[in-house]
Amino acid sequence: MIANLTSELELMIKDVSMLGNLPIETLHKMTFCSFVKAGLNIYGASDKHKNEVENLIKTIAVPYRGLVNGKLYRNALRFIRNLDELLHSYRQAVILEEANLHYILDFLEDKVGRVDVVFVLDCASIPEVVSIAGKFLSLNRKVTIFEKLFINPVGITRFLTGQLESFNREIYLKQYAQLLKDRLKANFSVKISTIDLVTHQYGFTLDSFLEFIGMQKLFNQINHFARQNSVLITSDHGYDVVADEHGLYITHGYKKECPLNFSKIAPFLVVD
Ligand SMILES: [Zn+2]
Repeated sequence: MIANLTSELELMIKDVSMLGNLPIETLHKMTFCSFVKAGLNIYGASDKHKNEVENLIKTIAVPYRGLVNGKLYRNALRFIRNLDELLHSYRQAVILEEANLHYILDFLEDKVGRVDVVFVLDCASIPEVVSIAGKFLSLNRKVTIFEKLFINPVGITRFLTGQLESFNREIYLKQYAQLLKDRLKANFSVKISTIDLVTHQYGFTLDSFLEFIGMQKLFNQINHFARQNSVLITSDHGYDVVADEHGLYITHGYKKECPLNFSKIAPFLVVD
């Protein structure tokens, strides 16, 4: 991953952590809206689509809207531009290093070393990672986003799990969590599918997605272990935000151009 990507996320995490007393749902909504707004702008979306996210931003309390439309938004713009550049350069590359689990696991073994607990959140995307990291930072934890991320060119679980056979593992996402656990000498691993399920069930509108994703519960599940341990949090793919005649909606593995194409990336966050 090019260095700029990590540093934009770090800046956003710092800004989010300043408001760490707010519920994580609010931090998540703020982050999510900044990314969608930035994505729509770069994509050149219609006013109808832009109004949809503006209306969502209006549900955020006035004192925090400035951050959503200001610093967070500008960082999100830079992040998306850098990501586009990265994905474009990867499309032309013959060998997709960061799409190869062997390469990624070697990288993690080298850079992360060991952690106590591994979390694999099916479909967790950049807004979730930033808000979770921001909340942990506000609790005075050390948070690290690694400079490499897993690239999933098709944005679906199968692209990752299909590679598990070359590790003599069954092709289930749970096995990826266990593989990470083994390689990082963790005590155990947890796979959570909520975000993927909500994407498929409630992704047809942004506000129902935000309502049902259950960030507080997700954060509590992680924090239960993170309180006394170091944890690695990652996913198999993120999600995309699509703008078409149906309005804005969330999916993953979307094949055409769209405002947010985050299903192609899965970052690695360590809290210790
Ligand atoms: Zn899915």
